[in-house]
Formats: sequence, structure tokens, C-alpha cells
Amino acid sequence: MSAKILYVEDNPQNMRLVKKILMAAGYQVLEATEGLAGVAIAAREQPDLILMDINLPDINGLEAAARLKASPQLSWIPVIALTANAMHGDREHCLAAGCDGYLAKPVMKNELLNTVASFLGQVVPQAAARR
Ligand code: MN
Repeated sequence: MSAKILYVEDNPQNMRLVKKILMAAGYQVLEATEGLAGVAIAAREQPDLILMDINLPDINGLEAAARLKASPQLSWIPVIALTANAMHGDREHCLAAGCDGYLAKPVMKNELLNTVASFLGQVVPQAAARR
């Protein structure tokens, strides 16, 4: 069975791009456009991994990550922060909030697939990485 990835993102273009990359690599993708909805979908669907935008319309991605990590049922799910805020210290903020990894936008296909695969304990499908 293919891994199930939840992407919490309010920007439709980013959602489309990342979803396309992940689906082409054979992953199942769940979408949320707000932080609270993301936490709720994670609780319901138990995804294998969560990609988390930081700037969201309701609670931000750091708060959403902190809520996930505070839940014994959800804290095992790897959370990778995805943000355009490439400011100094941003990575530290993400990790302090409980995120397991960090990717800067714009999203680079190979970097995304390599990071996702490594958190899922998989080897990157080379055909997908080359496309
Ligand atoms: Mn955003």
C-alpha cells in the first residue's frame, strides 16, 4: 500500500505542484487548507507523514505542529515544515515547535521526494526522481 501524505497548505498553486509531484511518485495525498482542519484530518486519517505550510489562515503551521506533537495518538507522525520564510532562525523555530524536518520554498522536486522518502524509511524511486 502506498504511503498516505497530508499536505496542509493554503496556496492553491503550491498545493497543485506538490500534490502532482507526490502523486507521480505513487503517494496518496490528503489536503487541508487550514491548520485546524489539518490537525482534524490527521486525527481521522492517521497519515504516514505531514507536510506543513507555516503561514495559514487560522492557526499557523508551528501551532498546528505543536498540537500534533502534544497528542499521543499523533505525535509519531513525522511533520515536515514547508515555508517561504527563509529568515534566519526559521529552521530552529520549526524544530522547536516539534517539526521533524524542514524544507524551504520554492519546493524542489528531488529535495522533496528525498526528504519524504527518508522520513518514510524508503528508497526514492529513481524513475520518479528523474521525471
Ligand atoms: Mn501559506
